[in-house]
Amino acid sequence: MRMSEGLFPTLKEAPKEAKIISHKLMIRAGLMRKLASGIYTYLPLGYRVIRKIENIIREEMNKTGAQEVLLSALSPQELWEESGRWEVYGPELMRIKDRHNRLFGLGPTHEEVITDLVRKEVKSYKQLPLTLYQIQTKFRDEIRPRFGMMRAREFHMKDAYSFDKDEKDLGKNYKRMYETYQNIFDRCGLKYKAVEADTGPIGGDVSHEFMVLAKTGEDRIVYCRKCGYAANVNRAEYYKSKVPRKVATLPRGRQGPKSKVKEKPLEKVKTPGMKNVEEVTGFLKCKPKDLVKTLIYKIDSIPVAILIRGDHEVNERGLEKLLKAKEISLADEKTIEKVTGAPLGFSGPVGLKTKIIADSDVASMKNMISGANKKDYHLININIDRDFKADRILDIRSVIPGDLCPKCKTKLTFSRGIEVGHVFKLGTKYSQVLKATFSDEKGKERPLIMGCYGIGLDRIMAANIEQNHDENGIIWPSSIAPYQVLILIVNNQDKKQTKIAEEVYKSLEKEGIEVLLDDRDLRAGAKFKDADLIGIPLRITVGNKAIKENKIEIKVRKTNKVHEIDSKNLISKIKSLLQ
Ligand code: ATP
Ligand code: MG
Repeated sequence: MRMSEGLFPTLKEAPKEAKIISHKLMIRAGLMRKLASGIYTYLPLGYRVIRKIENIIREEMNKTGAQEVLLSALSPQELWEESGRWEVYGPELMRIKDRHNRLFGLGPTHEEVITDLVRKEVKSYKQLPLTLYQIQTKFRDEIRPRFGMMRAREFHMKDAYSFDKDEKDLGKNYKRMYETYQNIFDRCGLKYKAVEADTGPIGGDVSHEFMVLAKTGEDRIVYCRKCGYAANVNRAEYYKSKVPRKVATLPRGRQGPKSKVKEKPLEKVKTPGMKNVEEVTGFLKCKPKDLVKTLIYKIDSIPVAILIRGDHEVNERGLEKLLKAKEISLADEKTIEKVTGAPLGFSGPVGLKTKIIADSDVASMKNMISGANKKDYHLININIDRDFKADRILDIRSVIPGDLCPKCKTKLTFSRGIEVGHVFKLGTKYSQVLKATFSDEKGKERPLIMGCYGIGLDRIMAANIEQNHDENGIIWPSSIAPYQVLILIVNNQDKKQTKIAEEVYKSLEKEGIEVLLDDRDLRAGAKFKDADLIGIPLRITVGNKAIKENKIEIKVRKTNKVHEIDSKNLISKIKSLLQ
């Protein structure tokens, strides 16, 4: 491709709203342009990268025996109502009306559509196992679209769905997909970790996320350097040494280990408009760890007060497991007022009539601060047993720095991650409600056992830039680079330079090497800057040296190493450098 004939707009500055390096560089290098919040147009260079990633994914998926389909992005409301997700998915599901006022969802994910297809086409165990996948545009009305294509409202996803006759076969499929994902991310040149994950609105029992380690990641993960245990912080377990598990079963009101701190008299203090931990601690000049958050949850529809230290978070997934609950969510403001008699932000344990579950760390606190169940008031010097009783004391906080590995008791390491892929064992979550069944060997009707497996193509691209860049621009691994080689003509007006560059260009094209010829009428300095910014793995410079000494200069973008090659050896050198 001759750059003089194409669209390669580069920018010196990134737009202000671009906060992370990949977003900045994707705009500056001319990979994409913004159309609206969370919606982007790919320019030629960016789209080539997407296509490269797509091909790697397709090759690896096909190797597993999975078959490619293309499902419609539009799906009817009735189908989503069958699964119950028309309600549950909430505003992230974009909905549109046709001319007859019929509602459709714009697919954020395709469990319903694929299950509908398979329930109509698959009837017998003889048709199993079956795995179908697609590479397609997804729509999610994200509450906070940001970081460019990292969290967009329209993006590309490969989603795959497996159908099996039993859990054992699902296990095999899941393992194969997990390994396929490793191959895909390896080939894309990413450094990543597979972590145990929460299943979120997709549902199911077991799931793993593939996390690209990067400071700018929106997810927090922990892992063990010794045994390899790794999990998303929102579901990580940790070794519980301080409070023995027995505490959890102690009778109502029994507190944790006795401390020697003296209990001070309970006091009500005015805290006008101070609702969250930051406001209250700032106002009362205390630390978050002196505070107790009283969170009203709905646990299987029943309001329950959860007490957690101000600097800790509730591990909802862990709580759900401990209580064997089906559904856990924070209560709405109306319920909070009904339960506590005060608006959101002033809940406290003293005088509450609902069931109270305290975290073990709260059970060992003295003279704590929490809401007074009265607007604009908090209580200080609250003491468990004296001022209120906890119905249960459980380990319900999320993992924190200093916690030990649940498997081998080594100190856990914290890191930030970008989720690029997610695999789930769905079981019968969708097949049951949508009645997708098959008849087994004995002729018995049984629900299909499903798995689902997603990868974000745009995130792979953005995450790759987060990991592979320097102060001058992007450094593409050759597997997903938009072009392999860039030929830069130092002086376009010089006929000899142009002639050599044209010859090299043609010879590389003939070899099937993807090459970009920078024949634009620009200053050499600007072209060198653009070459670094765009990040093509190899740059060939055709300048005076090429004419006088018959030497061609190749610079490796990643290492900055320069090779001077006789023109007759050029092709073989390029091929070896690209490997
Ligand atoms: P997140 O927690 O980041 O919102 P998710 O759990 O909603 O992700 P999945 O439903 O598992 O994501 O989707 C599969 C993949 O699609 C993700 O691993 C990610 O790579 C990609 N993806 C999800 N949401 C977006 C988005 N808004 N923009 C770009 N890619 C996305
Ligand atoms: Mg999401």
